[in-house]
Amino acid sequence: MGYSLTLDQKATTRALQQIHKNTKIGITGHLIVMGLIAINLYDDISVPYFILGVIAQFAVVYARFDLYKKFDLIQYKIVEYKQTKLWLNKHKFLMFLSGLTFGLLMYFLDNPSSDVYFLVLAIVVGMAAGAIYTAGEIFEVYFAYLIGVFLPPAIWMMSQNLEIYTTGVLLMLVASCYFAMTSYKYAKNFRKMFYEEQMTKDQLRQITQQKDTLNHKAHYDDLTDLPNKFLFQDRLEQSIEKSKRHEKSLAVCFINLDNFKIINETLGHNYGDRVLIDVSIRLQDIIRSHDTIARWAGDEFILIVEDLNNENDASIFAQKILSALSEPFLVDMDTFYVTSSIGISVYPRDTDDGTHLIKYADSAMYKAKKEGRNNFKFYSDDMTKVAFERVVMEASLRTAIANEEFTVYYQPQIDAVHNKLIGMEALVRWEHPGIGLISPFRFIPLAEETGLIVGVDKIVMHKAMKQFATWYTEGYNPGVLSLNLATKNLEGDDYLEKLEDSVGRFCLDSACVELELLESDIMKDPHDAIRKLGRINELGIKIAIDDFGTGYSSLSYLKKFPLNKLKIDKSFVDDIPHDEDGKAIVKAIIALGKSLNLNLIAEGVEDKQQRDFLVENGCNNIQGYYYAKPMTADEMEKFMKKMA
Ligand code: C2E
Ligand code: CA
Repeated sequence: MGYSLTLDQKATTRALQQIHKNTKIGITGHLIVMGLIAINLYDDISVPYFILGVIAQFAVVYARFDLYKKFDLIQYKIVEYKQTKLWLNKHKFLMFLSGLTFGLLMYFLDNPSSDVYFLVLAIVVGMAAGAIYTAGEIFEVYFAYLIGVFLPPAIWMMSQNLEIYTTGVLLMLVASCYFAMTSYKYAKNFRKMFYEEQMTKDQLRQITQQKDTLNHKAHYDDLTDLPNKFLFQDRLEQSIEKSKRHEKSLAVCFINLDNFKIINETLGHNYGDRVLIDVSIRLQDIIRSHDTIARWAGDEFILIVEDLNNENDASIFAQKILSALSEPFLVDMDTFYVTSSIGISVYPRDTDDGTHLIKYADSAMYKAKKEGRNNFKFYSDDMTKVAFERVVMEASLRTAIANEEFTVYYQPQIDAVHNKLIGMEALVRWEHPGIGLISPFRFIPLAEETGLIVGVDKIVMHKAMKQFATWYTEGYNPGVLSLNLATKNLEGDDYLEKLEDSVGRFCLDSACVELELLESDIMKDPHDAIRKLGRINELGIKIAIDDFGTGYSSLSYLKKFPLNKLKIDKSFVDDIPHDEDGKAIVKAIIALGKSLNLNLIAEGVEDKQQRDFLVENGCNNIQGYYYAKPMTADEMEKFMKKMA
């Protein structure tokens, strides 16, 4: 595609070409002047003058060359007028100085034989200077130069050979005028060119700004500046595509403010608007950076929650929104309460179509409203049930930790050969004030998922250690205390200190404490586990692998772990004595434990046949209902007395 130039652009291009030509003439002129000075001073041997002249000429040549380059650049690149002006001012000063030096040189050439040369010099200098006398601003630069040149000789001329020097000056002026005239027609285009460039740049900027504003208006809500429904739909399509690629699920939450209409109708739109802005700010505070929140319409907001680890994550979000919006709103010192109802649909469980996801979330929101407001509902009923249980459970688990609603049960571990108590496992029970005892199977998974397990384990550890310390001081011999420890506990750097503190606080011998870690847990990051377990081991605390055989341990790692004990999982014990494969596995685990020099214990042993098989094959330590179920501390005291 060819470019067609406007008349002005053509004139400007021609002017630039002229400038280049003139600059070349100017540079040549100055070089000739240098040569002439050299010839003139040959006899006179005024070396300092000569050097001064050469320096002056070099300065001018340098400045002109620079100018040449500058204009060459302007041909290809937009240079701001302001920038060029700055540059020219700098050169004005330089040119004045070099002109002055040259003028002084001529002044000091007080030699009649140089008169002829002076004439030639005058013509050439005029030519060289005038050659650049083109544009308004450039004229200033050369004007400065000419003043510098003319000033000293003019003074000299007044007192000496007036005719010849008047002729010289006149010739200089004529030459300057000639070159000025040749360039003038182009000159006027320069300033215009800069202004035009500037103008088009400004206009372009304005147009882009207008475009941006229009674009923003089309995609964002005026009041809250959140994305509007059109942008939301677009983002939802992108999020679905992304989730498809990464095989993740996402949720759409449709939020409707419950009693917003009343605020709007009774107090006016102004108040209503401010509440809506406040709502949008609170919602933005909750969401993660990659989630999208939009204002759907009126008092309706909509949200995409991406990267759900499991579908319950959406209910955690919904819960957060409910509680954030149930905080009072303050407008002009008036306090309002706004609750909300939320409907949730989940991709891909409910549908993989964006429009349907929105529709489903909307209809779930109506269900939530019907069922009493200030709550959330999933599009699918069974998810609502699970989520509700979970949300309620999580909230009460937090209270349980704060109130220490946990008690510890103890299950004996027996040396079956000597029929002797060697230790016991501490097992937590949640004493819920309304429900009663809750099994760890029901709340430990949630506690692990939410990180609340750290709080639970701490309570169990302290209660059990305290109990053990009491038993030891009372003369019982409870053996080793086995504590179940979720690896989440090891995430903080201070875990080791906490452990050391606890052991110290209850004056327990660290050799009496053993930590049971799940095989599947430590295998998630074996390198890290080796390091951390090593430090625990250095404290003298023993480490056992719980549920051994279910976590796909790599044998090469197993060798490196600082372990004391393998705990054979109940699922293998269950297979004894009828299942040949099961028996073979148990034998293999025992052999493996022995070859690694580890102690062994079997859990979940319920009958004599299982016990006998284990003992016959070299696993003497037994835990299970065969000997005793987990029991309270009081029951355990009786048990210990019986065993003694
Ligand atoms: P686990 O560590 O495998 O504990 C053994 C579970 O098997 C205990 O269930 C115990 O009551 C049960 N059990 C023991 N012997 C027999 C038997 O002969 N037959 C049968 N059917 N079951 C037997 P519990 O107390 O309900 O604990 C369940 C799980 O909860 C534990 O499994 C452990 O992983 C976890 N847990 C318990 N207390 C804590 C704790 O304080 N912290 C942590 N992090 N986890 C705990
Ligand atoms: Ca255990």
